[in-house]
Amino acid sequence: MKPLLMIPGPIEVSPAVLEAFSTPPPGHLAPRVIEAFGESLAIMRRGWMANRDSQPFVIAGGGTVAMDMAAANLLEPGERAVVVNTGYFSDRIAEMLRRQGAEVTEVRAEPGDVPAIEEVARALDAAPVKALVATHVDTSTAVRVDPGPLAALARGRGVLSVFDGVCATGAERFDMAGWDADVYLTASQKAIGLPPGLALMVVSVRALEARRARRAAAPPMYLDWEEWLPIMTAYEERRPAYFSTPATNLILALETGLREILDEGIEARVERHTRAADAMRSGWNTLGLEMVPAGDDVAANTLSALRYPEGVDAALVGHILEQGVIVAGGLHPAIRNEYFRVGHMGYAVTQPEMLSRTFQAIATALEKSGVELDTGAVDRATATLSVL
Ligand code: PMP
Repeated sequence: MKPLLMIPGPIEVSPAVLEAFSTPPPGHLAPRVIEAFGESLAIMRRGWMANRDSQPFVIAGGGTVAMDMAAANLLEPGERAVVVNTGYFSDRIAEMLRRQGAEVTEVRAEPGDVPAIEEVARALDAAPVKALVATHVDTSTAVRVDPGPLAALARGRGVLSVFDGVCATGAERFDMAGWDADVYLTASQKAIGLPPGLALMVVSVRALEARRARRAAAPPMYLDWEEWLPIMTAYEERRPAYFSTPATNLILALETGLREILDEGIEARVERHTRAADAMRSGWNTLGLEMVPAGDDVAANTLSALRYPEGVDAALVGHILEQGVIVAGGLHPAIRNEYFRVGHMGYAVTQPEMLSRTFQAIATALEKSGVELDTGAVDRATATLSVL
């Protein structure tokens, strides 16, 4: 049997998504690609809960491309950015901003925690700031920030707000219009429910204006919103256009994946992920596993980061694989060897048997590693999934 992919992205995809991209590659000017592209852009605004005048972009690449795009379009040498640092991917965006020549202030918390909002406010007030950047869910720690208050802090000070939603978009609440946020970016291989290969983002009018007002040299062509804007406009108007060849199979799948989310309704989808995450957390508790996030209020819906129990090490990940389930090791440099990660987003949260197989595999692997579980612990963990 094919092992079950339960890492925090790429993830198992739905049969409809699999079917949508499993076709000989269409050309980028094929009517069905143009239709799927245009429709996807329109659906993105709804999924992101964004204003009608905000601009969606879909570019071949990964989440890292989307991050680089935000950094390269918004920051000029010498401008300041504040990064709310909750882990490995916040470190990455801070470095990207530095490479744009920005002065970066990082507001950090201990691994597993989120910095206090007052500290972020102090950093914003210390000197003029161009952008506030945060990782919605840091995949290295499974920590989730609350973007609403951060976006409000930024807006109140005339600062642009940028959120990395790579491990969140489509599964965690994000009200782009309501919070008046400026950039919400993601990649296709997580809660959007596709294979890897697409960078997706929605950008506010304000952020596009900041790009246009840029005095420094234009960003590298592939990263420049100005290059892509006419292409995105053309697709939304169902006209063919070319700047750089889109990942045509993935574009076909994107419409299908986004439709699955929007047919359910973005709020219902987030609620489903919340229920799944709650069930997973009580399951971990039953199996005696502790989480990296400091509390349930900062724990993500999309994945769990779990500490190895006493006497168990990273070999556990291999034992879980022997049971037919792929999970991920630790990623945060400070605690890398102390924990492992399990994704629970997208198609898997509509399939309780995938989640129960995961509990089963982890329980068996723990027992093989010498951990004694209470009788019936796996059944009790699995029973928590009945809410799905
Ligand atoms: N940000 C976060 C929060 C991520 O989880 C990831 C990927 N795991 C990235 C950015 C980078 O995305 P990619 O690997 O697609 O470049």
